[in-house]
Amino acid sequence: MSGTNVYDELMAFQRDTEALAQVAGRLGWDQETVMPRGAAPQRSEEIGAMEAVLHARRTDPRIGEWLEKIDPESLDEAGRANLRLIRRSYRRHTRVPGALAAEIARVTSLAQGIWAQARAAEDFSVFAPILEQVVALKREEAAALADGGDLYDALLDDYEPGMTAAELERMFAALRPRLVALRERLLGAARQPAPLCGEFAEEKQMALSRELARAFGYDFDHGRIDKAVHPFSSGSGLDVRITTRTAPRDPFNCIYSTIHEVGHAAYEQNIDRAFLLSPLGQGVSMGVHESQSRIYENQIGRSRPFTAFLFARMRDTFGDFGVPDAEAFFGTVNRVHPGFIRTEADEVHYNLHILMRFDLERALISGDLPVADLPGAWNDRFAADFGMTVDRPSNGCLQDVHWSVGLFGYFPTYTLGNVYAGCLYKAMREAVADLDAQLVRGDTTAATGWLRERLQRHGGLREPRETVAHACGFAPSEGPLLDYLEEKFTAIYGL
Ligand code: ZN
Repeated sequence: MSGTNVYDELMAFQRDTEALAQVAGRLGWDQETVMPRGAAPQRSEEIGAMEAVLHARRTDPRIGEWLEKIDPESLDEAGRANLRLIRRSYRRHTRVPGALAAEIARVTSLAQGIWAQARAAEDFSVFAPILEQVVALKREEAAALADGGDLYDALLDDYEPGMTAAELERMFAALRPRLVALRERLLGAARQPAPLCGEFAEEKQMALSRELARAFGYDFDHGRIDKAVHPFSSGSGLDVRITTRTAPRDPFNCIYSTIHEVGHAAYEQNIDRAFLLSPLGQGVSMGVHESQSRIYENQIGRSRPFTAFLFARMRDTFGDFGVPDAEAFFGTVNRVHPGFIRTEADEVHYNLHILMRFDLERALISGDLPVADLPGAWNDRFAADFGMTVDRPSNGCLQDVHWSVGLFGYFPTYTLGNVYAGCLYKAMREAVADLDAQLVRGDTTAATGWLRERLQRHGGLREPRETVAHACGFAPSEGPLLDYLEEKFTAIYGL
């Protein structure tokens, strides 16, 4: 058989695997949105059975044989990229022994429940023993993948292929002092934006959010919006769904969660249709994915021109809601406020939350930080960077679910997404001359069109960092994000 035929055979096998993975993802979507509560035990069995099928396909020895027979030089650029991604997936899935993978699945599903109990009881000691087990298992998994290299790098590679802890450390070391200095200046400023007050009807929040989703290019023929406790986006290609949430006193939560998820979903919807159900047919990494959600939400959605449009639409929708004009509204949307909780943090504080989690989880994985010392290390670092004393574990190291479910190496991709968004925004502003004039009318066509053309449509064609560099025309770094934050927020605070 010729090399091309072998490639076709591999890709046909892969296409079914990708289709089954989409089905598994839709089971997860259903569970978080419309599944009857009593179905939970059956659903976990259904998902478990699907995962077993997927694991068997991803470790099928025929993949190894096909890969050996194919000459990459006989393929075009997309073919070589497919091969690279299939090879990486096959290597990762076959390196981790089945028994270890099963034990990680068992312990993390247990740990998630115990984490929730410990958080409700405000008692870290309830969580510590199982977290120790999770850390030990993740170290074992990392060792199986690392080839003698850095353990944390091996875990990071799951979410951001090609990135290293050393590179993140350099980037984060440049971010931290300027962010700490900026937050201190802003919180000490004489002019402080007012918070939003009042009640906002939830069905009107949803209607406005749908309108905004459309304005940002979300395609309702290939997606839908439902409510969920934690907003997320799910699926690739022709079926990309998002969720949002409402709270009567916090319409910004609904509006900006929706715009954020639309950024994720638009990325998936806009990938070249030729890549459908292939390894290239989805976002290339968590960091690049997050760059899309963040640039939609923050650089565009919280910009001065776009918030002027949003102010008018909120007036139309809710009547006079106590904010006098568009300028005051811009400040209210972007108000910088100290707080313990990452998911409630503003643009200035957010990355400081991530930087500390990165340092702490790296120390947990290297073994330098024993689990028992985690609360103390967390609270010391929080006092240093945020100037506040953590009052209880649910406001400290028990606030995030990630570590309980074994997601080590995931946190830094949030800040990497912000860094990439900063670079993309800089390049976009140079490319789209009248961007602000369009955004003030609520027209994001040029902005989202630029992202679709330069980045989104390429899917997994290039490595993550290369994907951003190709879109921007320059190598990504933290500089543009810092410049953007300092310029925007010192203006809002009159500094
Ligand atoms: Zn996101």
